[in-house]
Amino acid sequence: MSPLLKKCLSTALLLSTAVLMKANAAAPQINMINDVSHKYTFFFAWKNPNSFGGKHGYVDWDNNQQFQQSQATISSVDLSQVNLYNLVIGAKYDLPYTPKDIKHLNRYIADGGGIFLINSEIVQESPNTRAFLKEYGVTIPEEKTEGNIISANGEQYEVADEVNTLVLDGKYQWDILATDESNNPVIASRKQGKGHVTISSFSPFKRIQTRGKNFPDSFKFPNYELVQPILQQTASGKTVAKRKDLASIPTDKVKDLGTFQIRYTDYSTHIVDAVLKDYDVIYPILEKYMGVPMAAGSGHSETFTIDLLATKGSGVSFGKRIGISMFNDNYFGILGHELTHSWVTPHGEPLSGEGIAIHVGSKTQALASKKIGYAKGITTGTEGLQKRIDIALKDPTFSQWDPVNMNGGEGVAFGKKVTHGKYLHILKHFEDSYGSDVVARYFQFKRKLVPTNNFTFTGNDSVWLWGKATGKDQFAYFNKIGIKADKSKVTIPAALGKS
Ligand SMILES: [Zn+2]
Repeated sequence: MSPLLKKCLSTALLLSTAVLMKANAAAPQINMINDVSHKYTFFFAWKNPNSFGGKHGYVDWDNNQQFQQSQATISSVDLSQVNLYNLVIGAKYDLPYTPKDIKHLNRYIADGGGIFLINSEIVQESPNTRAFLKEYGVTIPEEKTEGNIISANGEQYEVADEVNTLVLDGKYQWDILATDESNNPVIASRKQGKGHVTISSFSPFKRIQTRGKNFPDSFKFPNYELVQPILQQTASGKTVAKRKDLASIPTDKVKDLGTFQIRYTDYSTHIVDAVLKDYDVIYPILEKYMGVPMAAGSGHSETFTIDLLATKGSGVSFGKRIGISMFNDNYFGILGHELTHSWVTPHGEPLSGEGIAIHVGSKTQALASKKIGYAKGITTGTEGLQKRIDIALKDPTFSQWDPVNMNGGEGVAFGKKVTHGKYLHILKHFEDSYGSDVVARYFQFKRKLVPTNNFTFTGNDSVWLWGKATGKDQFAYFNKIGIKADKSKVTIPAALGKS
């Protein structure tokens, strides 16, 4: 370490202790934005109980701390009532930061706002991220360091893997908030105007899973004591009022296409056309496979929305709004999967919502790929399905999976992959035995016979519907494979002779 950094470190330890004491005494309101515009992560989302802001997460709900997630272009976010801007640096994808963004952030910092730049990846191959960090006086070299992290007050924290260290521009006076075991800075902060710039060379928001996923206290957040003073110090330059509206901030750019809209940011404009091209191919294929038009979803007046998320490989569906990862070879797989989640609404599929989405997503991915002559997409769609079925059949008698009688996720003896795979096996069996349009018939009957409102659609109801779709009562089949479906518990009016 350079002598300059050593000097910074000793000054810093004194400084941060002083700031920490002041912050604790005042318990000031902290209004955070969790910006995922450059790297989307569910962890920072609003309604996840096991997440950043969950009951036992990194945000102190009971002590005037609030946050909202933002997917929007930085320069479009209203920062007037914000004093902490957590920005995940998404180096892997190298999305740009515009001069407008930097101007917007700098004005906010000058007025007392704090930004917390959270690096989670190697920034070496990311010119945009490197340039952005340089604006704030930081370089992150490639070398990584092992061992514990030591906070400003001398506490040791274990970190997940190796972490990078920081090289800090000597023209600023830095306050070192954490170092590695060799005294290299890993989290540092400095004043800028009335506000603060804080940077961490790694994500300190570690969580450890301690119990099954469905328990509310199934995660521990071991770095809470490390993180809290950092949040408080970074936000300490600006006084804000408690907020009421904490809805997440969606992507700010909209392209309206009549029946639906696509939402994106300044950073993902170049991806929009590719998504639209694939959407046009897969939509009619999906409509045919599902046998019914896209469901109206829960909000009938809303336009159907596709959100582009700065991530790879995954997506999310909220009925009429889906989010899809923007970094893909093509968008058939992800559109097919997430659109299926929307298609089945207003009632989710009780036997396995994920299973049906994987099945239809993969099948339509293969069909769409065939249509445009994309060999890789055909193989991915087909082989992907078979692989999951093979895993599921490791419980060949299905004795340890019973989706009809599963309450609140308890009783899942195998991992998620197995339960999805088993439903995929059932769907394959139906298609092999009763024709490839059996899924279409199932959803036609579902639309026609399952009441839209004030009705709970159960696993037994779904088994009954499969009977309609296949033209043969399927309760015996489900029971034979270990799923205790019960015909006497079916509540669909048509099944009770009350249509
Ligand atoms: Zn899904």
